[in-house]
Amino acid sequence: MHIILVSSRLTRARSVSLSTVHLIAGTLVLGVAVLALAGAVFYVSVRHAAEIKLPVLNSLVLSVQEEQARKSDNFLRENLNAMAVKLGQMQARLMRLDALGERLSALAGIRPQEFRFNEVPGRGGAVSTSVPPRTLSLAEFSQELDTLSRHMENRTDYLGILESTLFDATVKKKLMPTITPVDAGWNASSFGWRIDPFTGDRALHEGIDFVADVGTPVFAAAGGVVVVAEPHPQFGNMVEIDHGNDFMTRYAHASKVLVKSGEVVRRGRKIAEVGSTGRSTGPHLHFEVRHKGVAQNPARFLQASVR
Ligand SMILES: [Zn+2]
Repeated sequence: MHIILVSSRLTRARSVSLSTVHLIAGTLVLGVAVLALAGAVFYVSVRHAAEIKLPVLNSLVLSVQEEQARKSDNFLRENLNAMAVKLGQMQARLMRLDALGERLSALAGIRPQEFRFNEVPGRGGAVSTSVPPRTLSLAEFSQELDTLSRHMENRTDYLGILESTLFDATVKKKLMPTITPVDAGWNASSFGWRIDPFTGDRALHEGIDFVADVGTPVFAAAGGVVVVAEPHPQFGNMVEIDHGNDFMTRYAHASKVLVKSGEVVRRGRKIAEVGSTGRSTGPHLHFEVRHKGVAQNPARFLQASVR
């Protein structure tokens, strides 16, 4: 391209020749300049619209902000309503949890005051006519939800403790030798000092004797592990069961032993049959309860005729 420049200051016309390269370079420079200017105007208008006095820009930015605020306000309002319903449900659930906690603590023998289940008083009642109800602010609502969430966490912890206490108690109860081992009365010979039927001396009788016919079933007084199931010179055919918690029971003079050493037996399981083996004057079951190796009075553990 040829451009001819004519001016009064020039003595003669000048001719400038522009190549395609010149044209492309010029266009690029112009494009970059336009973009940079547009960017600068946009930045200034958005960041400093409030500071600089550009009424048109100002109102434009403000209207956009208002629109956004209105949208988010609507969004929050809708969510707040939905969450308020949820809050009500959580409160109701918490009340049920409290009632359950009180029942559980009574069951576990824990005083309810220890866990202060009544810390939050009951709510409800008529809507006040003098003070109109007002809508909950988001901050207030958030605070309410946090408090409730904390309360529920506490209750869950308390109930966890109660549950484990109850569970322990149930397990211990199951492992206590409280089942009468034979369907028979134990009047034959009670726990304590007595005249030995063989020697005639006073001797400590460390169990109780149930008189029953040979072959009468003998039951485990509690669940546990059989630790002895073998003949003994004095106790005859004998079974010993370890119940854990340092408790052990002994069943002596059996005609038949139905368990082996190491076997785990359920509470009330038939483990032997009444006999008169060992140092015995007639068919009966000699039954002992030992705690830490010390003989206890089995009568204290047995529930009369309950199996
Ligand atoms: Zn005995």
